[in-house]
Amino acid sequence: MKISRRNFIKASGVAAAGLGLSQLGFDLSPIESYAAGLKIKGAKEITHICCYCSVSCGQIAHVSKGKLINFEGDPDHPISEGALCAKGAAAYQIHDNPNRLKKVRYRAPYGTSWKEVSWEWALEKIARNIKKSRDSSFVEKNDKGQVVNRTNGIASVGSAALDNEECFLYQTFLRGLGLVWIEHQARI
Ligand code: SF4
Repeated sequence: MKISRRNFIKASGVAAAGLGLSQLGFDLSPIESYAAGLKIKGAKEITHICCYCSVSCGQIAHVSKGKLINFEGDPDHPISEGALCAKGAAAYQIHDNPNRLKKVRYRAPYGTSWKEVSWEWALEKIARNIKKSRDSSFVEKNDKGQVVNRTNGIASVGSAALDNEECFLYQTFLRGLGLVWIEHQARI
């Protein structure tokens, strides 16, 4: 039988504690009653990695009746051992948040209000703006006459949520455009 670290610790801990306490004459029913009141009782546990940064802390998602009901740190995770930073600890709010934007919004330069736009419109607009900025800020040679092929008019920030393959594609795209101002929001 395959026993996971989580189950082993849970089983041996519960067995040892239960045996020890009951031998000492403790009544364990109040502890059971307390557990019965937790909202995660009976929920399915799904372990996964925090999506926010490359520290890759472990999280447990609790799902009940097909609905995500809780997020918390995974004590069995070898990197984070149950700890999460404020961002990771608040990850449930990605899922359950009335303020979360689900549609693309656009505010024109000097505009004071936002309007809803489609992804097609937004991507077209972004592509046009990149082309315009690159064409107007591209530097082929520096003051010494050396070939540099830089796009000084565009910068990139992010992203901590990308995996290795996505980072490779993103960097290839940015360097191909000639960007040199490339930063990562986790360092800011
Ligand atoms: S954002 Fe926080 S919780 Fe998430 S992986 Fe990074 S350090 Fe860990």
